[in-house]
Amino acid sequence: MSKLKSWKELPIGGVILEAGSSLEYKTGSWRSQKPIINREKCVGCLFCWIYCPDSAIIRAEDGKVDVNYDYCKGCGICAVECPVHVIIMKEE
Ligand code: SF4
Ligand code: SF4
Repeated sequence: MSKLKSWKELPIGGVILEAGSSLEYKTGSWRSQKPIINREKCVGCLFCWIYCPDSAIIRAEDGKVDVNYDYCKGCGICAVECPVHVIIMKEE
């Protein structure tokens, strides 16, 4: 793990100096549960894609969805919002 910056090295006020910097933070390491999508039963409604707070749902070529586990924090919102209940949350 890289050394964390001290408070003296951080920008004043925690200002974000460059656009797109969130891509550097792989928030998937925060996760204790992971969403598993039953793709065969997915109807491609994209509710999970709309509701995911981390934009971790990926739209696939076949009209269904996958999860980008590099950024999925395991909040479970997608599993709650899926209208056909094809997402389960599983312990890591
Ligand atoms: S568990 Fe949360 S962060 Fe992960 S894909 Fe579902 S809504 Fe997004
Ligand atoms: S909410 Fe459920 S059915 Fe809709 S795209 Fe996501 S996984 Fe598929």
